[in-house]
Amino acid sequence: MKVSRTLLAGSLIGLLLALLILVTWALFWPASVCSDPTCSRKRFDLFVELDAFRGVESIPLEVDTESGPASAVSILRSGGIGLHVQTDDEHLPYSPVSGPLDRADLYQYALTWRNLAPPSRVDGQIYALVAPSIVSDRGEPLFGIMFDSAGREGIAIAPLQTVRTFERTEPDSIPVLQLRTFVHELLHALNRRHADAVQMPDGRLTLEAPTRCLMQRDGHDWRLSERPLLALSPGTIRFFQTAAPRDVLPGGTNTPFSGVDGSATECDDARSSRYEDHLSTRWALARRRLLALFGIASAHAQAPQDASDADPLVALRVQAQEAAYPLAYPIAIRVTAKNLSERPLPIKNRLTPAYGLVHIEHRVAGEKNWRPFRPLAWFETANDEDAMLAPGEQSEQTSSIYFGDDGWTFPEPGTYEIRARLTANEDRIEAVSNVVSIRVDAPESDAERAALELLLDDAGMLDARIGRWLIFGGRIGELETQPDIAAAIEQYSDTALGSALRLTLASQRLRPPIDPLTGERPLPDLSAVRALLDDMCTDSGLAALKHEMLMRFAHELPASLTRDLLSPQQAWDGLTRDGTPVPTYSDPTLTRLSLSFHFCPNDTTLAAELHRVARHLARTLARTKPERIMLVGHTDAIGTCRLNDELGLLRAEALQRIFVDAGIASERIQAVSLGERRPLRFSSSDEARALNRRVEILIARDTADELPSPDEVERVMPQCPSF
Ligand SMILES: [Zn+2]
Repeated sequence: MKVSRTLLAGSLIGLLLALLILVTWALFWPASVCSDPTCSRKRFDLFVELDAFRGVESIPLEVDTESGPASAVSILRSGGIGLHVQTDDEHLPYSPVSGPLDRADLYQYALTWRNLAPPSRVDGQIYALVAPSIVSDRGEPLFGIMFDSAGREGIAIAPLQTVRTFERTEPDSIPVLQLRTFVHELLHALNRRHADAVQMPDGRLTLEAPTRCLMQRDGHDWRLSERPLLALSPGTIRFFQTAAPRDVLPGGTNTPFSGVDGSATECDDARSSRYEDHLSTRWALARRRLLALFGIASAHAQAPQDASDADPLVALRVQAQEAAYPLAYPIAIRVTAKNLSERPLPIKNRLTPAYGLVHIEHRVAGEKNWRPFRPLAWFETANDEDAMLAPGEQSEQTSSIYFGDDGWTFPEPGTYEIRARLTANEDRIEAVSNVVSIRVDAPESDAERAALELLLDDAGMLDARIGRWLIFGGRIGELETQPDIAAAIEQYSDTALGSALRLTLASQRLRPPIDPLTGERPLPDLSAVRALLDDMCTDSGLAALKHEMLMRFAHELPASLTRDLLSPQQAWDGLTRDGTPVPTYSDPTLTRLSLSFHFCPNDTTLAAELHRVARHLARTLARTKPERIMLVGHTDAIGTCRLNDELGLLRAEALQRIFVDAGIASERIQAVSLGERRPLRFSSSDEARALNRRVEILIARDTADELPSPDEVERVMPQCPSF
């Protein structure tokens, strides 16, 4: 008894002593600043397979800097990541006539050439390509790109792009810049963002900042505005030292894109974020040491933040179709951004999620939390110059949001909500758009069901491989059901889904998939493109995407393909008689009367029995003296796009004449046509077509308040002769 009591007291004292030593160590062991490599301990091992294309010299993995030699290995080791790069001896085939590589090409190469087995006991794996030249979806040259290689861990860099940009002005810095790009893209794959960059005491930005933050225009050339620094920010080192593996390492459950975040003001933000010794208090240091000692993760990948009340830098709006989209339809939305700040912002043509500036978020209606839409590639643009949006200026872009790296965004019929969010730095969100409701419907007719059937997997769910194939513009070759899809397009081309799928096929015929075994890309099949696109104007989103797709290659295409192309603005807002674009459904100062006038097939005038209602409305409107009335004509999808645009315009003008006759000043009324691009119902049934042949009335908001508003939409339908 006595012995065991002594033993207990002894162990208690021993335990207390151990605790005391531990706390003393945590508190008083000399603190080294955490940008110093010696303070980090190794936590992860990363294997990188590096494949270079034939004819492209691989990047230098070690360089000499004024502060001594630096290498990819030493830089990552300073954060506690052990790096094992293995360069494949076999060079990838590439034929220069295939043109620059984009994300679909890189994806193809990754699937074919990623073949080295990592040594045992590595924690993560990345496939890296050294490519001759890479471009974004719009064809802009890129220094680097992060792309989906099916396991979400591919990067590509274009060292020759660095040479082209700097060979005249900064030849000595090129190796350092090439290595910098490589490590920078690796950091993205490890969940680090531009917002993690800081300015070090000597004024230089750490590796997380994009290269474009270090350059400035010098006449026709680019110069470096500072010597590139090959160092991680203390925040990144701390993150590597304290975060759980799933938040750091690529592959498996990690989703690097969710942590990658661009910003409209990221270069300035990085400079305003000065290096600080965050471990200045002994307690903070002790806490971190103890947590690390016991293996408790204390850092996490950044989660999206909620909106703040700060004055927005940018006015953001999103627009989608009001009609329920058919299930599996390639939904594309319009994003507009107006610069409300006093200075130019680098956001023009960067409004799709792939640029990391604007995030599209979605949720099932009624849910509380927003989910980010994650693109399959993240672009690293070479410079900001062409992207500057002047104060007061507006820019717009149409984004496909139906498939991302977590699969189909709208996987089943129902009501969803979407919004756009633009960030300027990590603590504040600078703009949040309006919320738009997106409805998705199950097919109505047999033809629609049959078209959908081709996109389902064995379990009857939307097939993820087909979604991926569609979002890559049909330019990845892994899908053996391609002939089926081509057949569906032939067979069901009068359905909205079948017609929409033609755009994918046209995109593939325009820029066929590169063969990753030979590096050759077949020539475009322009007659097939013409046949597929002929009369492809299914909805505003697709009409706008068609414009983007063709304009990217406009210089190589015959004028006949691009001549009558609708601009994205015309695709969404409609056409006026004189061609001047005018905002319709996108104008927040206009509201729609809950009354529409419908037409018989091919009719350009209002049926006689509808005149009385139209005249009555016109007289009511005349009394309220509206500042602005917009009459928007619509058609069904029978007949060609061009004829339908004209038909819609004639219908709007027919109503315009009745309004003018009732005494409304003609200069206050505008007639616009959206043709078949904004259906009330996507279905090809007779009932849906009758609903779609209509004129809608948009009116200045303040005037609309004075008008009686019925609870239900009143559709004034004619008696049409049956066929
Ligand atoms: Zn970057």
